[in-house]
Amino acid sequence: MTRVFNFSAGPAILPEPVLRQAAAEMLDWNGSGMSVMEMSHRGKEFISIHAQAEADLRELLAIPANYKVLFLQGGGLGQNAFVPMNLLRGRASADFVNTGEWMKKSIKEAKNFCKVNIAASGEAGDFTSVPKFETWKLDPEAAYVHICSNETIGGVEYHWTPDTGKVPLVADMSSNILSRPIDVSQYGLIYAGAQKNMGPSGLTVVIVREDLIGHAMPQTPFVFDYKQQADNDSMYNTPPTYAIYIAGLVFKHIKALGGLQAMEVHNRTKAALLYDYLDSTSFYSNPVAKEDRSLMNVPFKLKNEALDEAFLKGAQARGMLQLKGHRAVGGMRASIYNAMPVEGVQALVAYMKDFEASNG
Ligand SMILES: *Cc1c(COP(=O)(O)O)cnc(C)c1O
Repeated sequence: MTRVFNFSAGPAILPEPVLRQAAAEMLDWNGSGMSVMEMSHRGKEFISIHAQAEADLRELLAIPANYKVLFLQGGGLGQNAFVPMNLLRGRASADFVNTGEWMKKSIKEAKNFCKVNIAASGEAGDFTSVPKFETWKLDPEAAYVHICSNETIGGVEYHWTPDTGKVPLVADMSSNILSRPIDVSQYGLIYAGAQKNMGPSGLTVVIVREDLIGHAMPQTPFVFDYKQQADNDSMYNTPPTYAIYIAGLVFKHIKALGGLQAMEVHNRTKAALLYDYLDSTSFYSNPVAKEDRSLMNVPFKLKNEALDEAFLKGAQARGMLQLKGHRAVGGMRASIYNAMPVEGVQALVAYMKDFEASNG
């Protein structure tokens, strides 16, 4: 068996020990004689898996007791609709900070539900930085302020948390959740699709402050009403059981490695290897402002685009896959989530150097 270094933006690399454990437990989970996939979500076995996953996530992120943790379906993009449906609470508008491709989608969807105020935008700078907080035009009457903490395509990440005062801060953390410690109490709501840093696709995690729920728009489907799901331990309908189980194994794995402090050290080490090299050569480039560079997704371009194909082919021959950049921006992108080992980034940098030496 050969495992590649998988630089996919998502669904993405998972920790090998987690995959091994899942394989070992595939036919018989913990003496139950069943695969987790075959279990009733209402049975005591699955309820224990679900409860443990929530407890471990709460511990990792130090989630305060007045926040609900929901394990839902519908993806990160589904939340672009479910957040306004649940959080507008009769207000007419919400604030958005446009940092790139993912926020553009959030803005577009929200327009179906409310007045959208663009409090700040990185568009003039081609989305290569997070707009400085001093420039944000926040509306004190807004229902919430929506940001994307890590733009997966542009490689732009917040390394600070905006203080939005009494207006709840909503963050799409799909691609950097669990990559480093955060202070959950600064947010009204955090959401994330699992398939970048937590597990397989199909699971969406929502962490929401209790006082914000229970005011959904009348037409909100019950399965997407946070209050309905919170009151039913995310089991108003069948939750994505197998994805929750794998995410639970990932949470345990991160805890065993030392939690989010350890993840941050690991992720900073990897990102520094790659950015330091990118900054040392003109053969490759990354356009993002240094203070806003993502620790998770590193887009880069070759000076000579005509070499892109050859670069990707050579990488593949060395067991490094899914380095092609998103079609919206072109070039390359290395996604180096929690599960990417330092060796993967070392191998990538070594290959980039060799490729430069033979083509530069
Ligand atoms: C991947 C991603 C999404 C999309 O999530 P889906 O699960 O495909 O709906 C949303 N936001 C960000 C920041 C992402 O990286």
